[in-house]
Amino acid sequence: MPTLYLHNTLTRQKEVFNPIDPNRIGMYVCGPTVYDFAHLGNARPVVVFDVLYRVLKKLYPHVLYVRNITDIDDKIIARSKETDEPFTDITNRTAQAYHEDIAALNALPPDIEPWCTKHIPDMLAMIQVLLDKGHAYLAEGHVLFHVPSMENYGALSRRSRDEQIAGARVEVAPYKKDPSDFVLWKPSAPDQPGWDSPWGRGRPGWHLECSAMSKKYLGVTFDIHGGGLDLIFPHHENEIAQSSCAHDGAPLANYWVHNGFLTINNDKMSKSLKNFFTIRELLAVAPGEALRLTLMSSHYRQPLDFSIDTLRKAKATLDKWYGALRNTSAVPTQTADIPEALLEALCDDLNTPQAIALVHEYVNDLNRAQTPDEQAPLRARLLAAGTFLGFFEQEPEAWFRWKPTGEQEGPSDSEIEALIAKRLEAKKAKNYAESDRIRDQLAAQGVLLEDGPQGTSWKRG
Ligand code: AMP
Ligand code: ZN
Repeated sequence: MPTLYLHNTLTRQKEVFNPIDPNRIGMYVCGPTVYDFAHLGNARPVVVFDVLYRVLKKLYPHVLYVRNITDIDDKIIARSKETDEPFTDITNRTAQAYHEDIAALNALPPDIEPWCTKHIPDMLAMIQVLLDKGHAYLAEGHVLFHVPSMENYGALSRRSRDEQIAGARVEVAPYKKDPSDFVLWKPSAPDQPGWDSPWGRGRPGWHLECSAMSKKYLGVTFDIHGGGLDLIFPHHENEIAQSSCAHDGAPLANYWVHNGFLTINNDKMSKSLKNFFTIRELLAVAPGEALRLTLMSSHYRQPLDFSIDTLRKAKATLDKWYGALRNTSAVPTQTADIPEALLEALCDDLNTPQAIALVHEYVNDLNRAQTPDEQAPLRARLLAAGTFLGFFEQEPEAWFRWKPTGEQEGPSDSEIEALIAKRLEAKKAKNYAESDRIRDQLAAQGVLLEDGPQGTSWKRG
């Protein structure tokens, strides 16, 4: 098996991945805050860490992948006030939509998906430890982490103290001992969700949630912690502060892996800039696998500029890949292991562009093969590679039947089949003007016909 290399934000270097225990790999990725549909930017870490999860599962016998759901947050509370809906209705509905959306991207579910509101006692316990050890203090119903109490605070983001204060975006509150101190627990008004605690009814701070839940499922120190670039500061820095200080300096995670931004015209795709496409609306434009391929087409640490045109190109690429499978569907089935070169590319800090280039080669090799004997092993190799990368979850026939929803809706499957039957009759009656007219009519509606020895097959172009 190849050696896995990962870029570690802690050291700013690509390093050999040395697990704490090769029989039990632990990975924690910060999950979504569930108050609205996820956009394609939110899908980038999902796909990036799905690729890493698949690689880890191939290399090691047991991987525990934990990705949380943040189901208590001021944005959720604000939404619940706006819509006058109980916050749990919002979070349940949004989490379900999230699951549906990312399933369409063929992202494997994590092994454990903890919800914050189900782990309040773990959070209270960690706050108490931080208070006992002198890293936290009480102020006006809040419990705050005292940043100057940690000697090497800031090691992950490497920000100066001024930058830390400016970037922390924490509200200026007179009760803070230091401007960079952050909330572990804050009071809830009577009309806000809250839980009883020794410090009054309130709710946890966002950073604390991940520290408490990762400890519960992965222990004090685990292998990999991931998320988008924007989480390095303050979120991950503060997770490290809380966890290390609660655990006498033990590191929280050994490898910190961060994906770059998905951008639109070079601006980060985000709710606040209103330049986003939800996963849901894009699934009406192209199938989930095309979204997945788009997200894998750049190296995960690079920015990735998105446009509908890029998505269409990814769909066309997959048409080519599925086309090679469809053209050889009668070839006897063989199985193959994941090509070594493909695994090597992925083990090199998840070089997905290289992996995709290899799949192109496998497609071309298969297309060039002439006989079933030549085709069978090449088809098996392509299937093994594509499936490992999270593609080919559909039968080729079903893939080509996919159609966009909404305005661009074309003829239904049965309408197409009926027109093909009519065209066949016209051909039999030697009425070629009519059979050509039907073919052209379908082409104008985006349906392409291919006549072969087994009859006419079709695809939506
Ligand atoms: P949020 O729900 O905003 O906390 O985001 C969930 C995940 O999506 C986090 O890991 C973010 O870093 C990531 N994320 C948000 N926007 C983008 C983007 N435009 N590009 C890449 N990752 C993003
Ligand atoms: Zn987190």
